[in-house]
Amino acid sequence: MNQPAHRSHLKDLDYSVVQQCMHCGLCLPTCPTYDATKLERHSPRGRIALMRAIADGELAATKAFGEEMYFCLGCLACVTACPAGVDYSELFEHARAEVEESGVLNSPKRNIIRALALRWLFMDSKRLRLAGRALRLYQQLGLQRLIRRSGALKLLPQRLRALESSTPDIRPGFSADLIAPVTPADGARRFRVAMLTGCAQDLIFSDINRDTVEVLARNGCEVVTPPEQDCCGSIFAHNGEWKLAQELARKNIDQFPPEQFDAIITNAGGCGSHLKHFSKLLADDPAYRERAALWDKKVKDIHEWLVEITFQIPSAKFQPTARESSAPLGTWNLETGTFPVAYHESCHLCHGQKITSQPRQLLRAIPNLNLVELPEANWCCGSAGVYNLTQPAMADELLQRKLRHLQSTGAEVVATGNPGCLLQLVNGSKQRGMKLRVVHPVTLLAEAYRQSQA
Ligand code: SF4
Ligand code: SF4
Repeated sequence: MNQPAHRSHLKDLDYSVVQQCMHCGLCLPTCPTYDATKLERHSPRGRIALMRAIADGELAATKAFGEEMYFCLGCLACVTACPAGVDYSELFEHARAEVEESGVLNSPKRNIIRALALRWLFMDSKRLRLAGRALRLYQQLGLQRLIRRSGALKLLPQRLRALESSTPDIRPGFSADLIAPVTPADGARRFRVAMLTGCAQDLIFSDINRDTVEVLARNGCEVVTPPEQDCCGSIFAHNGEWKLAQELARKNIDQFPPEQFDAIITNAGGCGSHLKHFSKLLADDPAYRERAALWDKKVKDIHEWLVEITFQIPSAKFQPTARESSAPLGTWNLETGTFPVAYHESCHLCHGQKITSQPRQLLRAIPNLNLVELPEANWCCGSAGVYNLTQPAMADELLQRKLRHLQSTGAEVVATGNPGCLLQLVNGSKQRGMKLRVVHPVTLLAEAYRQSQA
């Protein structure tokens, strides 16, 4: 078989990672795409077999291989299920990089979308914020409402209509408008931490970033939050743009020197899962290898960090408040004086980072909050980065399944620790006409602290 003209990520990958799978099939029932289709090629085992065939030189990357790698959600449920410890996360990222380097999915339309959305927009945080401001203006001036009412959207292709309907509400202020570059600890300083504000998170959920900083300060952390921050690069690593992901990893390490902080905090499950593996990304870079290893140790998800430092338990009786959008507050149980909250697990928080108990611990600590069990809490909601845009049918199937389970709990508040999940559930519940407040656990804790102070 001829050698490919491009770099082969899968051939270059440590062979011990490629050959780990022992074909037992225990991961199959946990895989959403296999569950939906019952086809081996849409299962982790089937995908790993394809990757190995490429690594062994028995198969070249083809369009079908590329499509299969993008049909995979990258949810990592298979990693949790696997008794052999197969590192599917690493395989998956290299497989997508193989797809991009080989160009098997290239088409003029796809190339333009990727060049604009990924390389032009997300690589430059200033441009991204500028685009966010333009979108905010469009929404604030009522143009979005006007266009929606005019029926003009019917002229758009279905894919674009769906994209328009899921456009997030851009917050009136971004993180830099809400958070000081340095927030002192309330009382004695116990820790000095850096706060990553994220890219999409900064535009859509800057209030969650503010709540996170408030909660950290309340727990004795001085919080450093530079107003200008780069994307962490997870969107690039998950979409086969290996070199750009490396570039952003270096920029992040330079901006937040790990030697200077007790912890580097993220409140986004998807970002955290990527941020904790910079040492793999930069393994061949002698200038960054060691700092990347230290960086990996310092990165902490907010729930994980709060439990590690023994966070304060809010004291007052708590009543959840609504975000400005007048979302529902949650139903009080008059008999018990509690309100039910369901918890949806972000895939990259539970499968990618194995953080499952800490968010629940945090929620249970809030007085009056009754944490109700959500069936299939760790089953993907269909957001999966940009999966809901690239694979809308499968994403919607997963979303409807999640919403059905949420309805079965009777809770009107659902907490989840990742912006992609938050957005997916906000859009899904709106479309379904469900009364549901979708909230980050740290926001509920921040609200409880504020009420404790009042
Ligand atoms: S990452 Fe998710 S969708 Fe992909 S193979 Fe694993 S379980 Fe299936
Ligand atoms: S990935 Fe793990 S669980 Fe799945 S077939 Fe291979 S060894 Fe078994």
